[in-house]
Amino acid sequence: MIIEKNEAKKILLRGGNLIIPTETVYGLAASINFPEAIEKIYQLKNRPRENPLIVHSATISQVLEFVQNVPKTFFLLAEKFWPGPLTMILEAKGDLNSQITAGLKTVAVRIPNHKETKELLEEAGPVVAPSANLSGKPSSTKISHIEKDFGKEFPILKGEEPTCGVESTIIGWIEQKWVLLRYGFIPKDAIELILGEPIDHSNLQICPGTKFRHYSPDAKIYIQNEMKSKVDAIIGYENRDYETNQKFYSLGRDDEPEKIAHKLFAVFRKIDEDSLEKVWIDINLPREGLYLTLIERILKASSS
Ligand code: AMP
Ligand code: MG
Repeated sequence: MIIEKNEAKKILLRGGNLIIPTETVYGLAASINFPEAIEKIYQLKNRPRENPLIVHSATISQVLEFVQNVPKTFFLLAEKFWPGPLTMILEAKGDLNSQITAGLKTVAVRIPNHKETKELLEEAGPVVAPSANLSGKPSSTKISHIEKDFGKEFPILKGEEPTCGVESTIIGWIEQKWVLLRYGFIPKDAIELILGEPIDHSNLQICPGTKFRHYSPDAKIYIQNEMKSKVDAIIGYENRDYETNQKFYSLGRDDEPEKIAHKLFAVFRKIDEDSLEKVWIDINLPREGLYLTLIERILKASSS
């Protein structure tokens, strides 16, 4: 159910939950000041307790209220990428609610680039907002995805639907250096360009969330070439020729990674809607930039 900002603000400030659109994917939000509302997020998503939440704020001064000992480069990155799809993991202030951090000493923060959601956060204060999907399923990038997972009555803030289609990139300030913790919409090399040095990506497991099954449709997803002829449908690129008669789901052209990102989860959800059991997906993509994120999401979806 689509609601206006004033209604959304009331829900947050009386300790309720609602769904907010962001530029990446939809988020299931609770005000950081209401422990029961935060608890409800874990229940609604069936999210493992040891998987911490990202705090979404409207301004840097809001962010600075719950982090400490931030490096100078935090401000450089914030200026370049915020508002936008970059999440930074920083040392948390001691009094921050451990439901948010899952007991870690760090907290994940970001300023989303979405008009209505930013306005809401300016007025109602920061929220925690994991992706609005049942744990393990592909993130929601359309209203119909939310309705499927949480029902038609669940309140959703009015605003533009996500444009990126994949989640934020997560980097962490760990032992005095930046490390990549989750591939996301902002390519690693764009961050390295700002920092002027390479960032390590050998520690993706520091993000508790990377341990869990993720982004997976109910259909079994195959990437091996020998499976191509043994499946019900193919997910691929419209400018490639697959020489098969199977049902075809297009991710757009192979040279437009941003458009592929925008479509990927919607196609995963569509194949479940169409009750397919086995699907082959073309993962033959360049190993660079945003393609690395797409490859990671596809591998996660296919490895269950
Ligand atoms: P989601 O919002 O559902 O897309 O997931 C947020 C991701 O951020 C998960 O993979 C979490 O494990 C990760 N995360 C959140 N807080 C922290 C933290 N303090 N340290 C490491 N990873 C975090
Ligand atoms: Mg998620």
